[in-house]
Amino acid sequence: MGVWSTLALMDEELIKVARFFGGDDAVKVVEVLQRMKEVTDEIITTETGIRLNTIRKILYKLYDHALVSSTRVRNETTGWYTFYWRLQPDQLDAFIRSRKRRTLEKLKSRMEHERSHSFFICEKCSDVRLTFEDGMETAFRCPKCGGHLTGVENSKIIEKLSDLIKKLEDELRE
Ligand SMILES: [Zn+2]
Repeated sequence: MGVWSTLALMDEELIKVARFFGGDDAVKVVEVLQRMKEVTDEIITTETGIRLNTIRKILYKLYDHALVSSTRVRNETTGWYTFYWRLQPDQLDAFIRSRKRRTLEKLKSRMEHERSHSFFICEKCSDVRLTFEDGMETAFRCPKCGGHLTGVENSKIIEKLSDLIKKLEDELRE
């Protein structure tokens, strides 16, 4: 099976976690681990074309978070050790859940902030958005261009936040 057809079967969460740790290269590494179950870093290099050093960095990072485990096998002839790497699905699940819980907390506090304030924007500066309290301090002038600030609705944002919160809460209940 090629990389892309296997990727389609990969859990969306697994891809997110891999990308978080090492971008697209890590996604490819995790794809090989998922497809071949137990592999050496050299096999991963052959499969992905990514440099051995980069692969090792990614594997150590995943190992630090217990997302992969390794088995050491000694070659009787050379006396050298070979490491076989594999994914740790249980740990991965725990890791994903703890990230989701943290995201949920952040969303809830953002929601609280949105609900308890009114907001003002500058029509010219897209990144200026002040609370009523902050607007008072500048006499409702834009801190960047000095233009007048305009009151703005945030019910769309609150709706969006509440959808995200509900989605995460549902996923965490599973
Ligand atoms: Zn402005």
